[in-house]
Amino acid sequence: MPNAAAHAGAILTIDLDAVAANWRLLRDRLGRAECAAVLKADAYGLGLAPVARRLAREGCRSFFVAQAGEALSLRALLPEADIYVLNGLAHGAEADYAAHGLRPVLNTLDEIARWRVACRAAGAALPAVLNIDTGMARLGLAPDEVDALANEPAGLEGIRVVYTMSHMACAYARANPMNESQRRLFDAARSRLPPCSASFANSPGIFLGPEYHYDLARPGAALFGLQPQSGEPNPMAQVVRLQGKILQLRRVDRGMTVGYGATHRFAEPRLLATVAVGYGDGYFRTLGNRGSGFIGDIRVPVVGRISMDLVTFDVTDAPGRETVPGATIDIVGPGHDVDALAAEAGTIGYEVLTALGSRYHRVYLGAGR
Ligand SMILES: *Cc1c(COP(=O)(O)O)cnc(C)c1O
Repeated sequence: MPNAAAHAGAILTIDLDAVAANWRLLRDRLGRAECAAVLKADAYGLGLAPVARRLAREGCRSFFVAQAGEALSLRALLPEADIYVLNGLAHGAEADYAAHGLRPVLNTLDEIARWRVACRAAGAALPAVLNIDTGMARLGLAPDEVDALANEPAGLEGIRVVYTMSHMACAYARANPMNESQRRLFDAARSRLPPCSASFANSPGIFLGPEYHYDLARPGAALFGLQPQSGEPNPMAQVVRLQGKILQLRRVDRGMTVGYGATHRFAEPRLLATVAVGYGDGYFRTLGNRGSGFIGDIRVPVVGRISMDLVTFDVTDAPGRETVPGATIDIVGPGHDVDALAAEAGTIGYEVLTALGSRYHRVYLGAGR
């Protein structure tokens, strides 16, 4: 075992072949629409560089990040890619966007005006995306701003608008009527603006049917194995495995308690394993007395509170040869995916992934070269 792996409290294995397989599955489902990749927040916590390189190798050409800084990091990795900045045109960074070929998602009339100026300064109609708010009320042009633009199309002069886009609020819930109402609002707004390609679907949106696909889809979560549609089977390949190391075994007697606050009292003698993962690694404190580890297919429950660097599992039911110091417990693994961990923690898989700690030893499968 290389030393870094020996020093770490847990091994985080990220399967890039599974990321690639997930991108191909989405691409095939999209048919004629292009499949981009959303790699904000360090590729959902899994590592911008390895993920971006693998997807580019797979044939992905369009990438979305949230911030200009993320876009510059990505530009250094992928000189040829189309890189979009979801959070828009950062004040004072207009020339950087132009110099590095970053494509802002224009969210306000002010951003449109500033990009027009940047295009004039560059002497070229530089590409950008126009974001129309259809119900998120977060980023994008409000209805009155769409009106203003529709009545004054010169506002877009000198800009190469490559897509109009919008973002869905409830796409993970197939039956939610908001999906169709947002789509109708999107179509209505688009019909009033100069004709242009369109982008609408995030990961769950891709699974709502071809009328949601338009010309370019923007999946993030599904690339990393998260379930796209709640309450339906998950068609995505699992990408993440997290194996926490057992530091110590501890026999406890009836009447004893474990951890801060003494929140769990044992009714009978049990065997505990203390594992080197805690809330300082993004293993949420809400998992205290609720979370699960797995040893093979045997569930070993979290007992007591989560500490900063430690968690205790009740491993009484696991085979003795598997419960020794240095052995590992699957915190995320074949029998317990990120979504399952998130459900126990009272959150969503997105938050589990983006919280994955910096102390884990990371192993990338399928990175190539
Ligand atoms: C994050 C994000 C996406 C990707 O969403 P997933 O649910 O992770 O597929 C797409 N579009 C926008 C605007 C986003 O902010």
